[in-house]
Amino acid sequence: MGQTVNNFRPTEKGYYGPYGGAFIPEMLYANIENIRSQYQEIISDTAFQEEFHHLLKHYVGRPTPLYFARRLSEEFATNIYLKREDLCHTGAHKVNNTIGQILLAQRLKKKRIIAETGAGQHGVATATVCALMGLECIVYMGEHDIARQAPNVQRMKMLGAEVRPALSGSKTLKDATNEAIRDWINNPNDTHYIIGSVVGPHPYPDMVTQFQSIISEEIKWQLKEQTSKENPDYIIACVGGGSNAAGAFYHYLDNEEVKLILVEAAGEGINSGKSAATSVLGTQGVIHGSMTLLMQDEFGQILEPHSISAGLDYPGIGPLHAHLINTKRAQVFAVTDNEAINAAYHLTRKEGIIPALETAHALSILKDIKFKEDDIVVVNLSGRGDKDMNTYMANTPKK
Ligand SMILES: *Cc1c(COP(=O)(O)O)cnc(C)c1O
Repeated sequence: MGQTVNNFRPTEKGYYGPYGGAFIPEMLYANIENIRSQYQEIISDTAFQEEFHHLLKHYVGRPTPLYFARRLSEEFATNIYLKREDLCHTGAHKVNNTIGQILLAQRLKKKRIIAETGAGQHGVATATVCALMGLECIVYMGEHDIARQAPNVQRMKMLGAEVRPALSGSKTLKDATNEAIRDWINNPNDTHYIIGSVVGPHPYPDMVTQFQSIISEEIKWQLKEQTSKENPDYIIACVGGGSNAAGAFYHYLDNEEVKLILVEAAGEGINSGKSAATSVLGTQGVIHGSMTLLMQDEFGQILEPHSISAGLDYPGIGPLHAHLINTKRAQVFAVTDNEAINAAYHLTRKEGIIPALETAHALSILKDIKFKEDDIVVVNLSGRGDKDMNTYMANTPKK
């Protein structure tokens, strides 16, 4: 935060080019307007920034290292740096946002926090900050996901959150989101809804981007310290909703010399019918309150996405990213389940770091780009792989 980035900031109404905005039912208007009219003033306030940065340093463990991966760099004949968001408390970048939003909720005088979660990572990050601040926490989660993600359900419960099953539809993330929205409509006064990525109605995409922008703020000075240049040639990040990518890109958005690479999940293959490659399969439409690219059928019904990684298993993409793709500011690659597994094992054996399955997608494309010897390549290592051990044990590398 603090630095000016102009071309990719949203308009007053939350538009990034044709994408964004706030497409919400009338009954949510007051809740959203309450946040929209105050968020920028609240988060720009000096005391807020001091408390946010204090917690990021002493609770989350920031700054996270920017690590020069020597053996990986030798292999690809370039200079690869890993931004270690996996070392954040709770194991991923998501906590940067939940810390920011819990501080906002306190200033909005909210006593009750709700969230939705798919794999449970955002649910755990939300339950964590609610425990930290002593606030009531309710996490909506599809019944099907509750069964698939038992360890994260246990973490949330141990942290004191109530996990409420969403029993409708496919019993997954989009159904949990519907339940959370319903709750918010019924509890407009005392409740704040913590959304976990750069999705949802304005101002969420902008607000979450600003909280995550700490990632590129640190990359700038850390790179300067280690290489005497503050701009890399490439930044590579995986994209589900797009929050870790938005944070890693933020302070470079207006600098065209820095190439921005998004990596989405191809699942079993882009044309397999089991994919989450939104940039290729998606068309313009409204999902979760925002105009963006999403996977939908001819009647505008949301198609079930598929990815081996729960964090990338989302049928849409944040409006900032839809705009970055549309304007060709960012380039997109799609990586299959198998390629991600291979890349996860590869990083583990080369550098002694077990990455999250989401992150493994980003790492997989190192083999697909022809880097120059003096290029500086930053990969955002969004999370650690502990939560994915069952999947890794069941899926060893194959060609
Ligand atoms: C949730 C998650 C993602 C995907 O979410 P974004 O909002 O796209 O960043 C990526 N990596 C990890 C480790 C996650 O937990």
